[in-house]
Amino acid sequence: IVRMEKLNKHFGELHVLKDVDLSVTPGEVVVIIGASGSGKSTLIRCINGLEEFQSGRLEVDGKVLEPHGKAGQTLQQIRTEVGMVFQQFNLFPHLSVLDNITLAPRKVRHSSREEASQTARRLLERVDIADQAEKFPNQLSGGQQQRVALARALAMEPRLMLFDEPTSALDPEMIGEVLDAMRELAREGMTMVIVTHEMSFAREVADRVIYIHEGEIVEQGSPEDVFDNPEHERTRSFLSRVL
Ligand code: ATP
Ligand code: MG
Repeated sequence: IVRMEKLNKHFGELHVLKDVDLSVTPGEVVVIIGASGSGKSTLIRCINGLEEFQSGRLEVDGKVLEPHGKAGQTLQQIRTEVGMVFQQFNLFPHLSVLDNITLAPRKVRHSSREEASQTARRLLERVDIADQAEKFPNQLSGGQQQRVALARALAMEPRLMLFDEPTSALDPEMIGEVLDAMRELAREGMTMVIVTHEMSFAREVADRVIYIHEGEIVEQGSPEDVFDNPEHERTRSFLSRVL
């Protein structure tokens, strides 16, 4: 569902992604790990066109994104099929939980209010906050807000979900409930690309772990390969700092 070939991304002088090749197959859960500033966020932001890139090839769900971002309509199509959950929940503060979730389906998918609300309530049940539908974001805990963000992304019935450190802004006691919801989603077969520092979660859900260092994929493989038998010295030294 994702095919990235020799992708290069610069911010001015800074070469942030260097010849990155990354393919993701349907149903696969890929976890990206690496030090701060290594390019993890930039990499996943490229996948849904939030960042343009300078060279290489990127195909997402059969649609090709061109270097320099000259593809307005393709971009719209891709964003409709790709859901994203960020570190900051980015909910609309002036909308109720229910309206946060139904907004995009109604505007983009032209769902009726009825249909969109029904779906939203079903999703809220799935992330275990069915009773919060009428509240506003600032009346919820961080963990609840992040689960609303997840439900909001799922309401568009994405073919691929991207997560950028979804639990890093949460108090420790709320991390578990968000990871539970993600675990459930993985179990149901959702295709997921996840940037996280939660190494035990990564080990548990990942089909493949990718270690990125200074914009290059240094190592990838099964969680057992990468965590227990890393081939590269850089991977070993990173893991010794975070495990
Ligand atoms: P973290 O773990 O801290 O989130 P990361 O691996 O996600 O780090 P990125 O956010 O992808 O790292 O950043 C990669 C590099 O690109 C960093 O050196 C960062 O300073 C730089 N960078 C990111 N966004 C921009 C931007 N909009 N303009 C200029 N430089 C940027
Ligand atoms: Mg980041």
